[in-house]
Amino acid sequence: MKTGAPIRTTCAYCGVGCGVSATVTGPRAVEIRGDAAHPANHGRLCSKGTHLGETVSLDGRLLAPMIGDREAGWDEALDLVAGKMRDCIAEHGPDSVAFYVSGQLLTEDYYAANKLMKGFVGSANIDTNSRLCMASAVAAHNRAFGEDVVPCSYADLDEADLVLLVGSNTAWCHPVVWQRLEQARAARGTRLVVIDPRRTETAEQADLHVPIAPDGDVALFNALLAETRRRGLVDEEYLAAHGEVDAGFWEALDAAPGVPAETFTALCDLVAAHPRMVTLFSQGANQSVCGTDKGNAIINLHLATGRINRAGAGPFSITGQPNAMGGREVGGLSNTLACHLGFGEDERAEVEAFWDAPNLCAGPGLKAVDLFRAVHDGRIRFLWVMATNPAVSMPDSGFVRKALARCPTVVVSDIIADTDTGRLAHIRLPAHGWGEKDGTVTNSERRVSRQRALFAAPGEARADWRIIAQVAARMGWTEHFAWDGPSAIFREFAAMTGLAARRGKALDLTAHAGLTDDEYEGLEPFQWGGAQPLGARFPTPSGKARLVPVTPPAPAIDTEFPLRLNTARYRDQWHTMTRTGLSPTLSQHRPEPLLEVHPLDAAELGLTDGGFSRVETKQGASLYRVAVTEGQRRGEVCVPMHWTDAMAGEGRANRLPSQAVDPVSGQPGFKNAAARVVAVTPDWRGFLVRHDVAAPEGLLYWTRARVKAGWLYELAGEGTIDIGALLPEGERIEVVDMARGMRRIAVRDTGGTLLAAAYLTRSGQLPPREWVAGQLGLDAASTAELLAGRPSTPLPDRGPIVCVCHGIGEKDIAAAVQGGASSVAEVGACTRAGTNCGSCRPAIARLVEAWTPIALEAAE
Ligand code: SF4
Repeated sequence: MKTGAPIRTTCAYCGVGCGVSATVTGPRAVEIRGDAAHPANHGRLCSKGTHLGETVSLDGRLLAPMIGDREAGWDEALDLVAGKMRDCIAEHGPDSVAFYVSGQLLTEDYYAANKLMKGFVGSANIDTNSRLCMASAVAAHNRAFGEDVVPCSYADLDEADLVLLVGSNTAWCHPVVWQRLEQARAARGTRLVVIDPRRTETAEQADLHVPIAPDGDVALFNALLAETRRRGLVDEEYLAAHGEVDAGFWEALDAAPGVPAETFTALCDLVAAHPRMVTLFSQGANQSVCGTDKGNAIINLHLATGRINRAGAGPFSITGQPNAMGGREVGGLSNTLACHLGFGEDERAEVEAFWDAPNLCAGPGLKAVDLFRAVHDGRIRFLWVMATNPAVSMPDSGFVRKALARCPTVVVSDIIADTDTGRLAHIRLPAHGWGEKDGTVTNSERRVSRQRALFAAPGEARADWRIIAQVAARMGWTEHFAWDGPSAIFREFAAMTGLAARRGKALDLTAHAGLTDDEYEGLEPFQWGGAQPLGARFPTPSGKARLVPVTPPAPAIDTEFPLRLNTARYRDQWHTMTRTGLSPTLSQHRPEPLLEVHPLDAAELGLTDGGFSRVETKQGASLYRVAVTEGQRRGEVCVPMHWTDAMAGEGRANRLPSQAVDPVSGQPGFKNAAARVVAVTPDWRGFLVRHDVAAPEGLLYWTRARVKAGWLYELAGEGTIDIGALLPEGERIEVVDMARGMRRIAVRDTGGTLLAAAYLTRSGQLPPREWVAGQLGLDAASTAELLAGRPSTPLPDRGPIVCVCHGIGEKDIAAAVQGGASSVAEVGACTRAGTNCGSCRPAIARLVEAWTPIALEAAE
């Protein structure tokens, strides 16, 4: 264990790629600060980054190789993996083998996996969960620029006069980028437009919210480009020098924008008035069956107006994962060979020579959805999943579970012992987690940063690249994978980018190919390609960028499933919650998955705020608590994507979308599924706090969320109120009120320490969770207090927690506003809310706006 001096590393979560300064304070304990010297964040961190220290415990870690349910030694496990893969190739050919990897891998891990599959196994069946995240942006870049290059940097956001956010709840999903935008708006009046079907916290803060229909982006951007041309704003000189425009392109543009005329005019006026314009787009654009066209519609506008390749201007695709970009660089997507190279004869020959590859793949492999279809129908018979949880995260995840259950060999490398995917694996291999990993990641602005180890690897955990190399060695390719550390892999990768650079591509890390181990250890963040990586000549055969003709999709109509279902992320959770779900602080913001629905739809469907609903699609059904909100458009509903079978009975969102994908990128359309919603009325509901993890069975509804000394379960059921099996052994005290249909139970150990407490009712009120959860592991509360669910001296009711850093609730903020605070800063001065990481500032702004008229009325 390294203690003492701060270690500079990077955040584990999103594609912003914030630098972190981590000071190890004890065994599996670390203090986290933003790295002031890192150009991505200049010291800022969001709530997730700030509370990384709460996720480094060994809770739930996979600490030894497992064959079935049996612990095994590494040699036995690796021999088995290599043997199964070798047999599968011998019997069924190389395409019967597949890897499904992840943007959580470091670049060095990714490079090793790609090299093994494409150069040595002899198949390109390696795909990544980045396919689910931004494959459409990659395809759009390739179509327009001839290479997957993001032509922007975060500094462009500082220098833009207008920022369009498309399909991005930036304030929640890329909070440090949001803070940078907030700063630019305060400093120079940057105008902000949010194009999104939902009125998110980001949209609420915008100068203009454009509430398009789901998948309405292409129509809007085509109409915007047509109007921009009508106003004489096309940069003919730039286009003549740098753009290729097909005959008939302009004539095909005219589409109805799909938004109210006054909103469209306001958008056009803003675009016309601000040539320094960045369009930042994210999963809302990409996770669509027409995501590539959306990317090109955005890029077309920038190319036509010359708003690209200069400071403060450009189309900026921002990635979801910490190292999605690194995966794109090495070739982790199945339709790239390696290092931005394709499968042309010359490119294959160069890669074959570089790797000295005995079995170079012949052509592209299967993209994620097709890959799992091939697993399902038996074409793929050996699947190795690394650092991801496809049983939860893939669309139509019920189908993916069936596919995994049928596959003769499923290997999972992960840090967590019990994941939904791990439950279906034959062999599980313990990998390094954040805090143990050592290598590099690349963020959304192409900035390569070191991720450094803080702790010794626990148990038998090994680095992913090492596991891959050790399997490769057992298959007879020892010398090709004989790296002695991540620095050696990085040097090899950096040298390999020379193959791309020699073809005029922007990806070029060759200047780093000669780094010594010490230089690699001390490597400062650097941005490949610089601020404007595309320069005057685009990496296309003509040297010009292409304006790609795109047409809006036909409206989707399904009378049986008449609603459109969107899936979204929560501010303080990450992917399938295997890490953020361990943090009691982060679990406060949204402890349950909610179905968000417009008030008029709720009334029509018989849904009530706080009640329950079942969402159904052709693929499956999930159960959610209802949140009625004007933020949803009519006819559309939204659920979060984070909850798994380990965290909820039926809250798994990705069982709902279909397997439909974008025809160019293969990215699934997570955000616009045909659905219907029915109200569900349980006989009783309530909650349980418990010091350890339980396995609820036979309930209509349950979810669990971490609290400081245990877990908070939300429960609902049918028939008799009975959760006896969920209560631990101990001294039980109980009160039952048959008339009110209420039951309260507390379980203590012989010393009086609270082990569990349950509050269940058929129709009555429930006590606030916060105080009850705070009693777990303590012996301070009296029997009467425990059964009442509140202390004898009442605590203030703070309402739902808004600022998780300081534990400030909605009611605290309302009180501050009623006391005269009229801005986020003034609320911060009164309550401390929003003064640490800043992730809650948009929510505070919304509350200030909502409560100010009430406060003024009260003062009059
Ligand atoms: Fe991590 Fe938050 Fe920065 Fe994303 S914005 S990298 S989650 S600290």
